[in-house]
Order: sequence, then structure tokens, then C-alpha cells
Amino acid sequence: MTMQSVIKIDDLTVSYGNTRVLSNIFLNIDAGNIYGVIGPNGAGKSTLFKAILGMIKVSSGNIWVLGKEPQKAYVDLAYLPQKEEVDIQFPVIVSDVVRIGRLAHKGVFERLNSVDYEIINQTMIQLDILKLKDRSISDLSGGQQQRVFLARALAQRPKILFLDEPFVGVDIKTEMSIIQILKELAEEGVTILLVHHDLSTVSNYCDQVILINQRLIGCGPIETTFTDENIAKTYGGQLKLLHKIS
Ligand code: ADP
Repeated sequence: MTMQSVIKIDDLTVSYGNTRVLSNIFLNIDAGNIYGVIGPNGAGKSTLFKAILGMIKVSSGNIWVLGKEPQKAYVDLAYLPQKEEVDIQFPVIVSDVVRIGRLAHKGVFERLNSVDYEIINQTMIQLDILKLKDRSISDLSGGQQQRVFLARALAQRPKILFLDEPFVGVDIKTEMSIIQILKELAEEGVTILLVHHDLSTVSNYCDQVILINQRLIGCGPIETTFTDENIAKTYGGQLKLLHKIS
């Protein structure tokens, strides 16, 4: 592991039942970068996140996160799942959702203190949701909800942030403000892994890419790795379809 390598994956394979979805993945993720995780639907991007987060059983291989096993690093990892995996029907107000972000740092009987409340407040200001703090989460627009869930993740002050398609259903103004916040966090040394589908904004949003389609196609800086050839390898026959849509 290099000095600044925050995630190291060594020959990872993951199967669901008899179906292998990730094969022989080797990765070294460096601190303070925004990584675009790029690949078609079903490529195993969410599965890769869940494996690094210690949420699923891996079939073989090893993962180290901040030098530890994934489950032991959870305090420093924050995860924003894909929208459809978030249950937005529960009757809870915005400030309560953001507060959950601080609980990772607390023991079972430990209460939030003034430092926690200051962080919660600052994060709500940063994401422009302070005025929504007493609203029920289920009453908000998709873009507002996404800002609340991102606030929960940021309030945790994670060292590594996992975002699975955070811009789906989000207006362009919110998207721009979120990417600005992510760039500032990366400057401060936070590592960000971002599943992102809009290939036209990848080089603007990300420092590096992880190109994946069940196997690793490439991982590295935009200039050397996000090439037409690698993109074609990643999407295979589906690339034509993508061009038609956009
Ligand atoms: P992506 O995020 O790139 O769209 P996923 O990691 O969600 O891909 O899924 C990879 C493959 O694994 C897909 O074929 C998907 O249907 C399958 N899969 C995902 N989660 C499960 C699960 N819990 N049980 C069985 N198969 C799953």
C-alpha cells in the first residue's frame, strides 16, 4: 500500500448465488481524489461499493479500507445509496435525518453534544436546507431530498464518501452546487467515489475514473484512462445506444 492509498483491493470476486458479478478486481484508491465509477447498468458498480463498505459477503479476495477490514472502518465511511434504495416514506423531519450522520461517532448511550449540533447546523447551511429543517422528508422534492441525504453523509465528516448516482432526479443548479462541495472536500483530503452516468461531465467532475464491467477495464487519471478505447471496452455493444439517447 502506498502512503496515501486509502482503499486497496486485491483480487476481489463477488457472486450472488451462482452468478458472478465482479471478477478479479485489483484497485488502489488514493486520498483526496474524486473517482468516477463508470460502467453500464448491471456492471457491478453498486456491488463494488457494498463490498468496500463491508455490507456484503465477498466470494474471494481482500479489501483494506484505511488499513483496516471494511467493517472496522465504518466510522470514516459515508454512503449515499441509489435513490430507489432509500425509503422516503418514513415520517421523519429533515434535521433528524441529518442528525443520524453524527451517530456513527457515538456509543450506544452517548448523546450528541454542542460540537455535533454545530456540525449539523453548518452542514444544513452548506447544502441550503436549513430553511427545510422542520419539514417532513416525504414532502420534499427529489432534489431537496437528495441534498438532505447528502447532508446526512457529510455531517458524519467521513474520510471516504461513496455516492451512487447522486444526480439522478436532481436539477442542474443543485448538481453544480453539489459538485462544488465535493471538489472542496477533495481539496481537504476526503476521497470521493462517484457512480456517474453522464459521460459528458466525467472529465469536469472527476480526477480519476474506475471503468468497470464485471471486470476492471481501467483505473487511473482522466487523461490516460478515460479514453475512447477504454470507454468502448467498458460499454461494449451498448455504446451506440448511449449515443442515441444523448
Ligand atoms: P450496477 O450498480 O453497476 O448497476 P449492481 O452492482 O447493482 O450493478 O448489480 C450487478 C449485478 O448483480 C446485476 O446483474 C444485478 O442484477 C445483480 N444483483 C445486484 N444485487 C443483487 C442481489 N442482492 N441479489 C442478486 N443479484 C443482485
